[in-house]
Amino acid sequence: MKTEKFNNPTQAKVYLIGSGIAGLASALYLIKDAGVPGENIHILEKDKIAGGATDGAGETEKGFVVRGGRMHEMHYECYWELLSHIPSLEDPNVSVRDESYEFNERFVSNGQARLLKDGKKMDVSSYGLSFKQQADFLKLTYVSEKSLGNDRIEDWFDQSFFDTNFWYIWTSMFAFQKWSSLAEMRRYMKRFIHLVDGLYKLGGVMRTKYNQYDSVVRPMKKYLEEKGVRFDFGKEVVDIDFNLSADKKTATVLHMKDKSEIVLGKNDFVFFTNGSITESTDNGTWNTPAELKGIAASGSWKLWKKIAAKDSAFGNPSPFCDNIELQKWYSFTATMKDNTFLKYMENFSGNVDGTGGLVTMTDSNWLMSVVIARQPHFPQQPDDVKIFWGYGLYPDRKGNYINKTMAECTGAEMLEELYYHLKIQDLMKPITAAGKVNCIPVAMPFVDSLFMPRKIGDRPDVVVKGATNFAFLGQFAEAPKDCVFTVEYSVRTAQMAVYGLFETDKKVHPMYDSAHNPKYLLGALKAISR
Ligand SMILES: Cc1cc2nc3c(=O)[nH]c(=O)nc-3n(C[C@H](O)[C@H](O)[C@H](O)COP(=O)(O)OP(=O)(O)OC[C@H]3O[C@@H](n4cnc5c(N)ncnc54)[C@H](O)[C@@H]3O)c2cc1C
Repeated sequence: MKTEKFNNPTQAKVYLIGSGIAGLASALYLIKDAGVPGENIHILEKDKIAGGATDGAGETEKGFVVRGGRMHEMHYECYWELLSHIPSLEDPNVSVRDESYEFNERFVSNGQARLLKDGKKMDVSSYGLSFKQQADFLKLTYVSEKSLGNDRIEDWFDQSFFDTNFWYIWTSMFAFQKWSSLAEMRRYMKRFIHLVDGLYKLGGVMRTKYNQYDSVVRPMKKYLEEKGVRFDFGKEVVDIDFNLSADKKTATVLHMKDKSEIVLGKNDFVFFTNGSITESTDNGTWNTPAELKGIAASGSWKLWKKIAAKDSAFGNPSPFCDNIELQKWYSFTATMKDNTFLKYMENFSGNVDGTGGLVTMTDSNWLMSVVIARQPHFPQQPDDVKIFWGYGLYPDRKGNYINKTMAECTGAEMLEELYYHLKIQDLMKPITAAGKVNCIPVAMPFVDSLFMPRKIGDRPDVVVKGATNFAFLGQFAEAPKDCVFTVEYSVRTAQMAVYGLFETDKKVHPMYDSAHNPKYLLGALKAISR
């Protein structure tokens, strides 16, 4: 049965579970395109702060932290359009989109030290793929997604593929593992085929002026609050009741952790960001490792599990969240009251801050990478303070220098390991001894959960068949053909939810179809055979 769209928006009340970019985008589309009054929109957020995965916090003395930094590209069609409606905090006459575009014109990604070995830059002019590997690559883009089932990347490519420049660039840029979903890799290859040519230097990668909490979340929150949207922090939803029949599914009650309830009336809606890659994260310190927490500390995994048990159309969270060993990795953020490290990296790499992107140490047991964003990365960051981010994909392996797994390491030990790979231990010793360096490690148990092998149907549709008043949002709702681990995907699901349930004159933005553009196809073919 086709869901009838709601056409009485001024009477609607909408509850958004989760204040990540998917929830924030939904609020904007509900107001702008569906005509729901801002004051009728409630964002229920279990944390004390908005933004979910798009975080950025801290100050000089305690240290700054970003769990991750986002690479964007020109064809994030939904995301950039969304941000074209949001005034920048620094100049309200300019949108966040235009602020970002202007920033990217000045600081163009052009990584000159993409891969390192033995502390030296590697030649990445060739991706190093054999003829067979090139053929496997092409074949993958032509088979159907369905035919791949829940196969892993290592089921498709031979073992030597994982030693090529191409794989080191790919795995460190997108955080795919050998055991990640082949279907998701296929989506990336098709969706981002226009980037394949310049992948070795991060060509086409765009960033925001500051970290995404300051550049995106704060302006969006301000915009929505001015429209009357209510943010209820510290509100965790622990269960949802439904009326379920063969042709209609209606959410009826939201149960909160604090034992309160929200009973949904006939004009009320709920959108749920089911699953989150930053659930249960933990910060360590300079002297203590981060703690690996599990599902018990999460909100969305527990809630999704609870409701998935009520109806098979609500998807299957288990493939995504029940194997932390394969999903976790660790990141760290360094704060330095000194510019020696940045100066060294600028001279060594040939990239000024904000233009180099990822630098990956291919011989690191942890497969460690660092990114030096344009400084300041926080608006309140003093001129003489420098910040950079790093991560390791294999936190259970012992370091090459530090005799501990990455997971067991303090912030200080993670930096020691990094200095060893760059051969700058002596250079950095006096700066560390003078107490000018801080580093905060972060454990992210679910960060790669969206790449876990999955079957069609494991992610629920955004608006499931027969749903009258609810939608799923975010990385674990199905947006056909688009790529997870992107803010674009979450914003797309917000459009699908609002335009799917409410009468609007809007259509979900089409995806940029570079896979059928001969120019990009040829460019990619040439690049993989280089
Ligand atoms: C390290 C890292 C690097 C990344 N790199 C990139 C990149 O380069 N490019 C890119 O485009 N994207 C990148 N991403 C991905 C992108 O940031 C996320 O996919 C996106 O921000 C997810 O947004 P979301 O709103 O769907 O979910 P989330 O941001 O996860 O939001 C979910 C929200 O729901 C709340 N919540 C959960 N359960 C409950 C409950 N029961 N009750 C109330 N509230 C609840 C959570 O607290 C959270 O605020 C990266 C992410 C990380 C972590």
